[in-house]
Amino acid sequence: MASELTIKLHNTLTRTKEVFAPLDAKNVRMYVCGPTVYDFAHIGNARPAIVFDVLFRLLRHAYGADHVTYARNLTDVDDKINARAARDFPGLPLNEAIRRVTEKTAAQYQKDTIALGCLEPNVQPRATDHIEGMQTLITKLIASQHAYEAAGVGEVLFDVGSMPDYGKLSGRDLDNNLAGARVEVDAHKKNPADFVLWKASTPEEPGWDSPWGRGRPGWHIECSAMSERYLGQVFDIHGGGLDLIFPHHENEIAQSRCAHGTHAMANVWMHNGFLQVEGQKMSKSLGNFYSIHQLLETEDFGGRQWPGEVLRLGLLMTHYREPIDFTVKRLEEAETKLRDWQRAASAAKGTGTPDASVIEALSDDLSFHRASVAIDVIARKANRGVETAVECLAATLDFFGFSKDSLLADTGDVDAARIDALVNERLEAFKAKDFAKADAIRAALLTEGIQLMDGKNEAGERVTKWEIKR
Ligand SMILES: [Zn+2]
Repeated sequence: MASELTIKLHNTLTRTKEVFAPLDAKNVRMYVCGPTVYDFAHIGNARPAIVFDVLFRLLRHAYGADHVTYARNLTDVDDKINARAARDFPGLPLNEAIRRVTEKTAAQYQKDTIALGCLEPNVQPRATDHIEGMQTLITKLIASQHAYEAAGVGEVLFDVGSMPDYGKLSGRDLDNNLAGARVEVDAHKKNPADFVLWKASTPEEPGWDSPWGRGRPGWHIECSAMSERYLGQVFDIHGGGLDLIFPHHENEIAQSRCAHGTHAMANVWMHNGFLQVEGQKMSKSLGNFYSIHQLLETEDFGGRQWPGEVLRLGLLMTHYREPIDFTVKRLEEAETKLRDWQRAASAAKGTGTPDASVIEALSDDLSFHRASVAIDVIARKANRGVETAVECLAATLDFFGFSKDSLLADTGDVDAARIDALVNERLEAFKAKDFAKADAIRAALLTEGIQLMDGKNEAGERVTKWEIKR
């Protein structure tokens, strides 16, 4: 099935926005680098999960849900994991401690991404289940003289000098790497930019037998092996954060292309921008480092918990390629926006389909801004009581992973009739130009947690809605 929708995506490899043409419209294939499971995912990790989830949804819409394969890996062998395991479980054998760290972290990541409204990828491979595939790739690279065993250090290294166009994705050439690099001169490397495919493990460290001795893979080879296993030697889209372009993605490309003798690893490379918190780079030492779990379950950020859907919308409100400043104000805006949409959609019976102009807006390199302007248009129609608009709005929200009513407070023990009466009294006060009284009523209701929102109806008269804050 070919798509009738024209999807344009910005390709880091060509630095242009291109019309997306899958290799096989019956099986559109996307790989996204997932987390290294040594610690709870932070809000910066949430961004690629959400951005590529939206792309996954768009591709499923365009090509059919059964015609898209999305793989997102878990890196569960890494020196950061070893260090964390040794720190957190000093009494346990390292392999047992590692298992505890990775299982707990991977399970939490799963919970976090679901809370953020992300669909589960079709496959979520773990590196440790694919060691054999990595060894096969390394063997091929050695045989084709793109890799070599460094004598005496138990390492297999990729020989960057063997690949004439190494550095194309990041726009670095080898001379630049050499000139600007902080690379110490490693006597065992042919070129300082050569990177590790396999390294020796001490008896305590996790390791697998191999033709090069007991050891473990380098990080980059993991993604080359897992993407090949599930998506083939060449596939459509490879995504991740901007920080992965170099060296991680550059080296994935080098390994995969040289091992398979292909012109490309993936045709389109997409990268989401950085995230700051309240205007500053997120770091543990600045105390502005927030895990997704913390935002969802604690009151550490802005003194309250945040629903996953609000975090999701907050992150989508900036174009995925732009840097985001993640702030309390942004989340409050997202919450107000989502609540407005939900208020207009909540009566839907579930008979609608997503709005075509919203999908079209999103097809322009995932322009969520344009899409949200189009959603506002439908919401206005829905607010005027147009039933098809109510249905369409609910289906459109569902398309994006938003519920039609999750933020609408249960009125519970609130006396709605009394509040309605006060709201009417206030409207009368406005008519009588008694603004002091109108303000007093607003203030009194606010102390009860009731927020008033003034607007105008089609006749130009003041109308006031109210909602329960939190
Ligand atoms: Zn990767």
